Amino acid sequence: MDRKTVNVGIESKKEVPAEALAAARHKLGEHNGINMSIEASNTFTFKDSDAMNRAFLGEVGPKTGIYIYSRHLNPTILNLGRQIAAMEGTETAYCTASGMSAISSVFLQLCNTGGHVVAAKTLFGGSHALLTHFLPQKCNITTTFVDIVDLEEVDKAMIEGKTSVLYFESISNPTLIVANIPELSKIAHAKGVKVVVDNTFAPMILSPAKLGADVVVHSISKYISGEADIIAGAVCGPADIVDQMRDPHEGPLMLLGPTMNPKVAFEISGRIPHLSMRMKKHCKRAMKYVTKMKELDPNLDVLYPGLKEHPQHSLLNSMSNKDYGFGGVFCIDMKTEGRAYRLMDKLQNSTKFGFMGVSLGYYETLMTCSSRSTNSMMDNKEKESAGISPGLVRFSVGYVGTFEQKWSQFTKAYSEM
Ligand SMILES: *Cc1c(COP(=O)(O)O)cnc(C)c1O
Repeated sequence: MDRKTVNVGIESKKEVPAEALAAARHKLGEHNGINMSIEASNTFTFKDSDAMNRAFLGEVGPKTGIYIYSRHLNPTILNLGRQIAAMEGTETAYCTASGMSAISSVFLQLCNTGGHVVAAKTLFGGSHALLTHFLPQKCNITTTFVDIVDLEEVDKAMIEGKTSVLYFESISNPTLIVANIPELSKIAHAKGVKVVVDNTFAPMILSPAKLGADVVVHSISKYISGEADIIAGAVCGPADIVDQMRDPHEGPLMLLGPTMNPKVAFEISGRIPHLSMRMKKHCKRAMKYVTKMKELDPNLDVLYPGLKEHPQHSLLNSMSNKDYGFGGVFCIDMKTEGRAYRLMDKLQNSTKFGFMGVSLGYYETLMTCSSRSTNSMMDNKEKESAGISPGLVRFSVGYVGTFEQKWSQFTKAYSEM
């Protein structure tokens, strides 16, 4: 299948920016309201018993405006899915109650008991725990963790006929390693392995499906929501995978039921049109901070793919969509946990630079000491191997306030260290 072509009603080649595609998905409301309507019903009626029968046989469905039950399909959630699919350049997408439910459902769809996954060792803490503990214990699905930058290691770890998924984050959490999506996809596809990419850190910036990935997952709770008020997720990919996940007899979305609330889908839908603007602002501000920080203290260890010395700086540059930067997250290494905590305390409580919090993608800056928070479930060896040092402070850069005001708040706190 040609993944570059998405049927969104406009010519959708790679050159057409994601924001144009997402805008093409705009639906009017039931009474010509300029926003789409919310279909809050969980069950739907039929014009007669024959129509009901045909709906259950799968002969009619959403294409003809026929729905059965909202755990299966809901028109409002479907509309949001269309926007997200357009943004990611995938054939279809469906939204879920959380990022974790999107991720776990994809593994349960693509792997059977006895199956095998190859995954990057630098992953969001929850995904790492899912692969390390839950899936082997409950489903006998095992994972080999690899250094995602080492293509040879990735290739060797995939066992033809046994491995079904190669899983990694486009930009990893919290170590900001950028995955070579085109090369990784080539290696995986040569062995019949599906490539699943978590693009939570880089919506709009990267389009993994256009670069070769089969399935893209999101935690909508982060940038896409943008207000740190919603937990939600999405699975984007070809219909033969995503639609199957809603199969009434076998699909994990249908049977485990991590269903999104249509009122939440409506909320999120209204935020997609300004996601592109917000992402550009996050990226621009992050780049400005790291540049100034390197000037302020040349010895400070700053981790950001926008810096020329970042090992995947040019790789990210070559893969990213035009006019976006290098992401809205950077890390600084304060070397010890004590110094990391002291800096965060000052930044939150004395200079009001930002908030301590584990999430990301908020309009204010959020800070976290990864080794003690989002990655606390990893043991010390796992952390060391993933490059998560004890004093690593992750900043999810906000864009409110003037840069000058925010920078003076940072320098004041840093000078007191
Ligand atoms: C937050 C996050 C998740 C999990 O998403 P939830 O919406 O919290 O379930 C998965 N992957 C990454 C990279 C995340 O940052």
